[in-house]
Amino acid sequence: MERRIYADNAATTRVTEPVLQAMLPYFTEQYGNPSSIYKLGRDAHSTIKDARQRIAKCLGAEENEIYFTSGGSEADNWAIKGTALRLSEKGKKHIITSVFEHHAVLHTCEFLEKQGYEVTYVPVDEKGLVNPLDIENAIREDTALVTIMYANNEIGTIQPVEEIASICKEKGVLFHTDAVQAVGNVEIDVKKQGIDMLSLSGHKIHAQKGIGVLYIRKGILVPNLVHGGAQERNRRAGTENVPAIVGLAKALEIATENIPEKIEKVTEKRNRLIDGLLTIPRTRLNGDRDKRLCGNCNISILGIEGEFLLLSLDAKGIAASSGSACTSGELDPSHVLLSLGLCHEVAHGSLRLSIDETITDEEIDYIISAVKEVAERGRMMSPLWDSITSGKVDFEMI
Ligand SMILES: *Cc1c(COP(=O)(O)O)cnc(C)c1O
Repeated sequence: MERRIYADNAATTRVTEPVLQAMLPYFTEQYGNPSSIYKLGRDAHSTIKDARQRIAKCLGAEENEIYFTSGGSEADNWAIKGTALRLSEKGKKHIITSVFEHHAVLHTCEFLEKQGYEVTYVPVDEKGLVNPLDIENAIREDTALVTIMYANNEIGTIQPVEEIASICKEKGVLFHTDAVQAVGNVEIDVKKQGIDMLSLSGHKIHAQKGIGVLYIRKGILVPNLVHGGAQERNRRAGTENVPAIVGLAKALEIATENIPEKIEKVTEKRNRLIDGLLTIPRTRLNGDRDKRLCGNCNISILGIEGEFLLLSLDAKGIAASSGSACTSGELDPSHVLLSLGLCHEVAHGSLRLSIDETITDEEIDYIISAVKEVAERGRMMSPLWDSITSGKVDFEMI
């Protein structure tokens, strides 16, 4: 029998049965336009209101602080471009972010640089953590926004968001966080944690693709990214995706239901995976071991090419991801791995396995033995590994 193990939950997740069931009536029965004034429309309107309230509750926010978007990328774009546009009117044209953000943040910042904004990219240390002091030192009179991700999508490291938020508050600078990977894996309370704006995405938490949220704290004015109708209290046009919104509310409730228990359970499985993989010679764990998402394992295997790893694992029924150049269609390996100070050779052989609570110990052991076998086979064919074992070249695994 062919086996299939999905270990790429950081890329996307399966829509779970309760989420799907919650959505289904909104395709063929409750299909009204929430702006219509007859009953079908009014019902859709109150469905959205209900979903918005439930989502707000999961985040410690208020209903009127939740804005639906087409996903995490749009939420990031809106928070950053909107804030930049608005505060540039007050002469604030400086933004602070980190070098290892998701491209939805980095490419938005690069776009703004071309428009005459200045961006400071703070570094991360070799464990994949931002130092709040670097943020503090980078803040200037003309700083409009600090945007730092809650947890990194490749190496899973969890950033000191509360500390950064309190620095921003003290200095009177707005703070946005891309929490797409963190939601459901870390307890989030936007009010307690002092977060001004937060992005999340449905398809990373078992809802469908193409739906997300931007939380905007009450009182913060962010001009529209999408102009048109009066939806989302005039701030984001477009007929609401009712089924997706209902699914997102359900998925978020499930994801935030029992986070401590989930962390304990998944961390145990993840550690089994990490420890098993690190028995392969010349491997390293990328990112801090403790301050990381419970389901994230990211290792580098020296002498192996990421693309070869992924295709060989796929042939064994395992879906995983890599930060190597070939797998991303770029010339350089992932900017995240390079930001840790890894050399290209070590970054190319990276493997990200992102698991959830449904994985069994037996499946983890299967992954470990599959990676071992693939690594041995790959190294036998690798001229690089040949040069390493014969002592001609070597690479630091830091
Ligand atoms: C997936 C992801 C995004 C993009 O979300 P989409 O809904 O796919 O647009 C943004 N940031 C992070 C950290 C992500 O992991």
